[in-house]
Amino acid sequence: MAVKGEPSFRQSVDLMFNRAAALMDLSPGLEEKIRVCNSTYTVRFGVRLRGKIQTFTGYRSVHSEHMEPVKGGIRFAPSVNQDEVEALAALMTYKCALVETPFGGSKGGLCIDPRDYDEHEMELITRRFAYELIKRDLINPAQNVPAPDMGTGEREMAWIVDQYKRMNTTDINGAACVTGKPTNAGGIQGRTEATGRGIQFALREFFRHPDDVKVAGLFGSLDGKRIVVQGLGNVGYHAAHFLSTEDGAVITGVIERDGGLWNPNGINIQAVSDWMRAHGGVAGCPEGKHVADGAKLMEEACDILIPAAMEGVINLTNAKRIKAPVIIEAANGPITAGADEILRKKGTLIIPDLYANAGGVTVSYFEWVKNLSHIRFGRMQRRQEEGRHQLLIDELERLSADKGLGWTLSPGFKERYLRGAGELELVRSGLDDTMRAAYQSISSAWHSRNDVTDMRMAAYIVAIERVAASYRSKGL
Ligand code: GLU
Repeated sequence: MAVKGEPSFRQSVDLMFNRAAALMDLSPGLEEKIRVCNSTYTVRFGVRLRGKIQTFTGYRSVHSEHMEPVKGGIRFAPSVNQDEVEALAALMTYKCALVETPFGGSKGGLCIDPRDYDEHEMELITRRFAYELIKRDLINPAQNVPAPDMGTGEREMAWIVDQYKRMNTTDINGAACVTGKPTNAGGIQGRTEATGRGIQFALREFFRHPDDVKVAGLFGSLDGKRIVVQGLGNVGYHAAHFLSTEDGAVITGVIERDGGLWNPNGINIQAVSDWMRAHGGVAGCPEGKHVADGAKLMEEACDILIPAAMEGVINLTNAKRIKAPVIIEAANGPITAGADEILRKKGTLIIPDLYANAGGVTVSYFEWVKNLSHIRFGRMQRRQEEGRHQLLIDELERLSADKGLGWTLSPGFKERYLRGAGELELVRSGLDDTMRAAYQSISSAWHSRNDVTDMRMAAYIVAIERVAASYRSKGL
């Protein structure tokens, strides 16, 4: 979404990059090499639907190939355009570097409103788009690995992997050509929830750093914090659901296409999501007061604002009125460069997109590794781990009985301790570790220098430094 009087999305990402690069010691040639988008492929293809041929326009942009494969989702939305795809591809480069997933950055998009087509038509369109990209190695386990994004999910990824396998029948690693697949088609448990789960882990880590929390004028933990969520799609739903049911946060506002819901006592996210599935929107949902101009809720007083839908929603028109002291960017690019400046001057603490929403690509990385190793995580170790735990419990119980010590294990302990980790537990553990480690590298870049004044700059510096190191080691 281009905001009037503001730079485009891609220019906005470049401005943020430039601000960070100005604080670094990169040669001008290398700086330029990292910033620019390597290539964008545009395809126009026809599909015969309802008796006539309809033409669609799609893109796959490769921002940086310092590591391969390159990685990034495919978006289905009517607003998709080259500038947006290139901005999103650049963000993927920085995101992957920041969370140390061994990929370059890429992104794809198809100009389409998926609500205009039925399932069979969507399958024809998706397969045809995939065919065009596969033919050019823009979908390939070793070169370019897409994933879901806005308007796409497991269903589309299942069609894409099947299309790839039909066209590459002898590729034993075919399942790794795309991530975010359903588990019955080579997916991994925990991928669908991953971006929302990553938001939760990022906020938990933030609240483990009281000095950072103080910068925002907050204190304590997530418990009782008032949160407004803009967008209740896959990312917003999971983030809000986990934060409210597992961390004690109170969701006071939810913003959707057809308006917002407001309830200072807390909104039950599952109930809203069920309502939306049945009624197509939030209007009429008894969980809160309906506000027709939903975007206004972003300006309400709360502790944390989570923009979880699309780019540019916090811009020059509303930035001044945003009251939340903390904004965590669950979407890619929800704050324009201009709004970012206004918010920074006001002292708003922004947990930037390239870190905050990296949970998705992190678990995509686990899925890709799983596909290449052809074995589910935990399959070899789980029972062995349980056996060793059982040994310890048996020994403790024997000691207690032999010596008449009368020890009893606390209720539920035995069951929890004995349970070996399955795939979902391992995925969550890997994601948690990744989000903590990335936060710590941002935090040290932020606090080790006086000229790094905000988390976004710190995150960019860490990411750009890693991409630069990779280019340098190649002799570029
Ligand atoms: N589309 C997601 C993103 O913007 C996920 C990308 C991926 O898993 O490759 O990060």
